[in-house]
Amino acid sequence: MIDAKTGAEPRTVRQGEPRLTVVSGPSGVGKSSVLNEVGRRAPEIYFSVSVTTRAPRAGEINGVHYHFIDTAEFERMIAAGEMLEYAHYAGNLYGTPRKPVEDALAAGRPAVLEIELQGARQVRRAMPEAQLVMLLPPSWEVLVDRLTGRGTEDPEIVQARLATAREELAAEAEFDATVINADVQAATSELLRLIIGREQ
Ligand code: 5GP
Repeated sequence: MIDAKTGAEPRTVRQGEPRLTVVSGPSGVGKSSVLNEVGRRAPEIYFSVSVTTRAPRAGEINGVHYHFIDTAEFERMIAAGEMLEYAHYAGNLYGTPRKPVEDALAAGRPAVLEIELQGARQVRRAMPEAQLVMLLPPSWEVLVDRLTGRGTEDPEIVQARLATAREELAAEAEFDATVINADVQAATSELLRLIIGREQ
């Protein structure tokens, strides 16, 4: 698929080579909905489970949504070289354990990381062959509506997320491809073409 805005082709991958895809995008863009649908349509894809020092939210399961660990264990993993990348985000630490991703790729499975911008930049340096995809809202106004819409969040938190979102959107040119999430099924099809070369 050719990116409509830049005209750039996604980086080429030798036939049959499993690829690592990083999916980033601002808070409120709908990453979880789209990636859940990607996983439902293509169960062969390996989704990395990050470690984080953040507390679990209602409904989150340890080992499924994240591995919830304390700061001491997080620092031990960094020192032991066990992190593919890690970042501070909104007062907590998040990181990708290296080994499960390497094992999945070695076993021939395409792998997906859903991480924020600082982490995406580290993956770019550590694994230049990785493909970086940014999920975008149809417009800035839609993102603002999604983040403020329910009115349940503290206005200061919404403002902080919008400021981070602005920074993330400004990094679009660093990514190999962009997918606009105007419709979950259409965005899923586009992402699947990038990750496994077909819509499934
Ligand atoms: P949340 O706390 O809402 O689950 O995630 C906050 C942000 O952290 C999201 O942008 C998410 O993509 C990012 N994130 C989740 N796991 C990782 C990770 O392992 N590394 C990095 N760098 N960011 C992550």
